[in-house]
Amino acid sequence: MNEAPAATVLSVVIPMYNEEAVLPLLVDRLRPVLDATGVSYEVVAVDDGSRDATPAILVGLRRVWPQLRVIRLRRNSGHQAALTAGLHRAFGEYVVSIDADLQDPPEVIPQMLELARRDSLDIVYGVRNDRSTDTFFKRSTAGLYYRLMRKVVGDKIPHNAGDFRLLSRATVEALRDLPETTPVYRLLVPWIGFPSGEVTYVREERAAGSTKYPLSKMLRLAFDSIASFSAAPLRIATWLGGLGFLACALLMIVAVVTKLVGFVVPGWASIFVVTLFLGAVQLLCLGLLGEYVGRIYAAIQGRPAYFIGSDSAHPGTLPGAELDSEAREAGLSPTR
Ligand code: UDP
Ligand code: MG
Repeated sequence: MNEAPAATVLSVVIPMYNEEAVLPLLVDRLRPVLDATGVSYEVVAVDDGSRDATPAILVGLRRVWPQLRVIRLRRNSGHQAALTAGLHRAFGEYVVSIDADLQDPPEVIPQMLELARRDSLDIVYGVRNDRSTDTFFKRSTAGLYYRLMRKVVGDKIPHNAGDFRLLSRATVEALRDLPETTPVYRLLVPWIGFPSGEVTYVREERAAGSTKYPLSKMLRLAFDSIASFSAAPLRIATWLGGLGFLACALLMIVAVVTKLVGFVVPGWASIFVVTLFLGAVQLLCLGLLGEYVGRIYAAIQGRPAYFIGSDSAHPGTLPGAELDSEAREAGLSPTR
């Protein structure tokens, strides 16, 4: 489906969900930076089923910014799914992914490109050397997440590297060939392990609007991350089972001794505690199994993580290409 126009050097993929507040600011900073690079580029805005003015603003922007390409997902599918949609469809020889909220400075993109070209690198990570602008809660949960991930995946995971990075065409294609349905790129990219470099930057505050990552989405990302790389949580079941067995054995000895001594306790409390404890252990283990079985089931079903509503680079080829019909009504030809 992707007929890559030979010339596109750089694609910048930006997943966005309800980002009407930050979008104009983003364009004001991103466009001059990209224009100044002197390479041919496209900006792939992946609208993750926004319900605010984001799609309308994007249509308007396309009139004045020919390099802007808009992919609209039919419904909100989540950050990683939106990223996947953008990565899979980007044309560029190099693909940069960046958040819409300007926490990652676009000014770093030319440095990434230069480094990748100079040292023939496949991956350039954007690494935050300062998170002081993040909230205490975000900092501590993120710290915990990265520590855990380094344990699970190994030390290859760069510290504090989020989803701001540059990938070569070869890397994008290698990622696309993986059968994962819920790819977690910040782990998969280091796992792929192609030659990589780093560019450090200061993490800024979200320029406008509020976070689109509530605790539920953060937990989902964390469990997807662990489960896609390790079956270690399943081993917790074995440990808990062993522990429960030991505790029960001890209690049995206690019961026998008290009986022999003739000190007969009513005993209901201990039975009560043991029953509850074992019940809890079993439920926990079942829950863990369920998480994995659920993921295996989802993988076997092979349902797509997202549905493309429209892609301004392929007008009319997709059903319901609303944005493009709007653009055509305005007398515009598509970017490509
Ligand atoms: N995002 C998305 N779909 C979602 C949630 C978030 O495309 O369901 C985008 C969002 O618009 C932003 C990026 O993912 O460009 C990161 O989200 P956010 O900045 O809200 O996360 P935080 O920085 O607070 O972790
Ligand atoms: Mg953010």
